Amino acid sequence: MKFISLLNSNSLALTVCLLLFAACAEKPPVKISESRMGTVISQTVYGNNAEKAVIEASARLAQLEKELSFHDNKSDLSKLNLNAGENFVPLKAETLFLLKKSVYYSVITGGAFNILTGPLSKLWKVTSPGADIPSEKKIKELLPLLDYKDIIIDEKNSSAKLKRKGQMADLGGIAKGFAADEVINIYKKHNIKKAFINIGGNIGLLGKSPEGKPWRIGIQSPDGEKGKFVCVINLSDCFISTSGAYERFFKKNGKSYHHIINPKTGYPSESDIASATIIAQTSVESDAMSKVFIMNSNEALELIKKTSGTAVIITKYFKIIATENLKDKFELTDKRYSVEFR
Ligand code: ADP
Ligand code: MG
Repeated sequence: MKFISLLNSNSLALTVCLLLFAACAEKPPVKISESRMGTVISQTVYGNNAEKAVIEASARLAQLEKELSFHDNKSDLSKLNLNAGENFVPLKAETLFLLKKSVYYSVITGGAFNILTGPLSKLWKVTSPGADIPSEKKIKELLPLLDYKDIIIDEKNSSAKLKRKGQMADLGGIAKGFAADEVINIYKKHNIKKAFINIGGNIGLLGKSPEGKPWRIGIQSPDGEKGKFVCVINLSDCFISTSGAYERFFKKNGKSYHHIINPKTGYPSESDIASATIIAQTSVESDAMSKVFIMNSNEALELIKKTSGTAVIITKYFKIIATENLKDKFELTDKRYSVEFR
């Protein structure tokens, strides 16, 4: 996912946008926008230590990008993938942490979230020039590799192994969330009380907005039109992640093929959901749980109510289903849509 904020209003298409209104009396925030982890990352940090906090956060983001990359052959993650079916590989604490979390969220989502979608993401390569529909035979061949029970973790030796050759973990659906958690922790360490970070649609909010009110978070219209919001949610001290089909995709014969794979079929998911936004206390959770995107909207909302607890599901049929706890935080801005709180 990508985003804009007021820092960089000409940037790429966006999913979730922070509507930020700076208070006049406040010392101006430190703002930075950079391209990392395959997306745009934007930080806005208030307070005396803002500069130091932003510098440390940027350095951490650069490190995480290197370690968790699916495409860089030297990354910690690639070491695991290149040794699939062969050896245990010693891994950095964060890679192991994310592997464990990934298995956890695979179980919680009944396999909707699955980091072993790597071979299929590589096959589909939806964002590459000339992307095309792979053969059904090839897709079917790869499906057995997606069994997340094949991730073997050796806690004692801080190492892990993928059981079968050809298996590939792809942290694309959780690493940006983890990075947002890390950044907010860095802000807190520097005694920052007010900040936001947006890592391509994974938003972290610290404290309240400069006006002393909740931050106003706009949820992007799934038709992909920049800066157009379906609704606004007023939130503070939490993490928000959106998964949708309208940014990373290619078109063939009038049909769109996007980057979120249904691990049961091997094809880009085709549910009635246009976008799934999850609000949680960690961004690892909101990012991973946003893969309920591949489920039917009713099932997705039921699952969120039993687990993370807070979601806005936008369907392809101009209907928004939101959890009841958002009722007094929610503003409908696109009147083509109707809202139901459950
Ligand atoms: P983005 O990377 O644009 O923020 P998402 O958070 O929705 O989008 O994650 C999609 C990415 O996650 C894909 O690009 C791919 O790397 C990976 N992925 C694809 N399908 C799944 C899935 N079913 N479960 C977990 N990760 C997935
Ligand atoms: Mg995401």
